[in-house]
Amino acid sequence: MSESKTESEQASDQHFTTRRQVLIGLAAAPLAACASINAQAVPPRSAAAATGAAADLRATTVRAYGATGASSGIAPLTINRRAVGPHDVVLEVLYCGICHSDIHTVHGDWGGPTFPCVPGHEIVGRVLAVGSAVTKFRVGDYGGVGCMVDSCGTCENCQAGREQNCLNGTTFTYDSDDRVSGGKTFGGYSERMVVSERFVINIPPDADLAATAPLLCAGITTFSPMQHWRLGAGQKVGVVGLGGLGHMAVKLAAARRAEVTVFTTSPGKIADAQRLGAREAVLSTDSTAMRRFANYFDLMIATVPQAYPMQPFTDLLKLDATLVNVGALGQLEAPSGMSMAFGRKSIAGSMIGGIAETQEVIDYCSARNIKADVEIIRPDEINRAYERVVNKDIRYRFVIDMVAGRAG
Ligand code: NAP
Ligand code: ZN
Repeated sequence: MSESKTESEQASDQHFTTRRQVLIGLAAAPLAACASINAQAVPPRSAAAATGAAADLRATTVRAYGATGASSGIAPLTINRRAVGPHDVVLEVLYCGICHSDIHTVHGDWGGPTFPCVPGHEIVGRVLAVGSAVTKFRVGDYGGVGCMVDSCGTCENCQAGREQNCLNGTTFTYDSDDRVSGGKTFGGYSERMVVSERFVINIPPDADLAATAPLLCAGITTFSPMQHWRLGAGQKVGVVGLGGLGHMAVKLAAARRAEVTVFTTSPGKIADAQRLGAREAVLSTDSTAMRRFANYFDLMIATVPQAYPMQPFTDLLKLDATLVNVGALGQLEAPSGMSMAFGRKSIAGSMIGGIAETQEVIDYCSARNIKADVEIIRPDEINRAYERVVNKDIRYRFVIDMVAGRAG
């Protein structure tokens, strides 16, 4: 995921193309068999489930919203969803968040997607049907899908619960080679999804569904580094950029009773940062304020969506502390080696979180009533929403009401 693909990404692509050809062949027979598979005989759990559409376990065509070209914008289209395999769950998509990664992908910031491209990886839906071997879900349950829908399951990283770092190539929720049906994966800006239960997260029935959807990317992406670097009570954490990821970082760090400072480029967000749980928010263009925090932070989480000079922020790290860059995924503007050496400082990256950890953040937030601040929109408002995200004009996550899309 960089502006242009690195050598190792190209090597991984080549490896994966070969693997995909094998998998497409392997998938053909089970797919034919899946078409006649029976749904697990479980009664609907709720009235809502009883009103769900009749389960159709064959491959289907569903309505979606996606880009058909670099300048098409997001528009209605139809896509295929595979037949339901024994371990698959059919989700009726209810809500889908808009992550800046959707925008990077559609705009070609990471090298250009395969069109048509249907984004969306902050998905909450209702289970419409389950394959015969599914144990985690029953019809009528709520399920969430984040940034991944498959991985090899056998490599060292998958075995360690780090499916996002699968050594054989994670299958991301959209614009990724589909191990099962071939072609590319399509995301949550769609009516329905068919996903292996291993990659579907249990969503508590009493959850605020729209405000929970962003936890599946923005939440886990900021929670995971706090877990890995063991951010604890009283520690000082800096959050750079107050958008979708940034506002979740503030809420999650405040819940750990860490002392949170936000660095923003938007004067209008300073009061918000404090409302969200930060002790202080400063304009990163204010060099006097920046100097006050020299050698101050135990951890920094940077969510800026494009390259930015990192030195002003690494200067704020204590000895041995780490700036975790989760935002800019292209070429970085690294600080001087000397400054990093003197402070034995680190810059790290972090990619979403594993499936077990994603379930953990959902449960953690449910127990503490932590949710995203959302602005709910209809699918026909996605293009305008993209413009507003790019202009830093969203407080703090757009979430598409996919049912409103069907009504319209
Ligand atoms: P977002 O909602 O647009 O928030 C980003 C925030 O960064 C903006 O609101 C703005 O906050 C600040 N910002 C924007 N442009 C800036 C610039 N040129 N210089 C300095 N600050 C700027 O985006 P998001 O959805 O949170 O995603 C942030 C980034 O994380 C994206 O690049 C996305 O692709 C990436 N991402 C990575 C992962 C991962 O696993 N590593 C997962 C999800 C997303 P202020 O107004 O406060 O300055
Ligand atoms: Zn995302």
